[in-house]
Amino acid sequence: MSDTLFTRIIRREIPADIVYEDDLCLAFKDINPQAPVHLLIIPKTPIATINDIQEDQRELAGHLLWAAGQIARDLGIDEEGYRTVMNCNEHGGQTVFHIHLHLLGGKPLGWPPYTDVAKSG
Ligand code: AMP
Repeated sequence: MSDTLFTRIIRREIPADIVYEDDLCLAFKDINPQAPVHLLIIPKTPIATINDIQEDQRELAGHLLWAAGQIARDLGIDEEGYRTVMNCNEHGGQTVFHIHLHLLGGKPLGWPPYTDVAKSG
């Protein structure tokens, strides 16, 4: 897998506002926040998309959710609540191909309207 922006953040080659780090993941503020709290939690191992998570990386993928809970508690937004999102490929709106869990909170979050006439599934 070729380098992405996020690999370069892990290597400290480009700056980021890092709020959490452990041996498996890094969390930093999203440069274009969609909520008062908007962090990206990324594995230090580059994985392009959810589709590319291997069987032996299941624990790593789960670790991102565990870290989200720890960070939310540290920020004091755990009780009010927050949202985690991981986009995949074009329809999911993924733009950086190194998986990342968005952690959004700090206000009540809406849900985008589903306006298609022919709803399937
Ligand atoms: P996604 O659309 O799910 O792939 O999310 C990529 C996210 O990365 C977007 O929310 C961007 O705002 C964010 N982003 C892009 N470049 C940076 C950067 N240098 N530092 C922090 N966040 C970034």
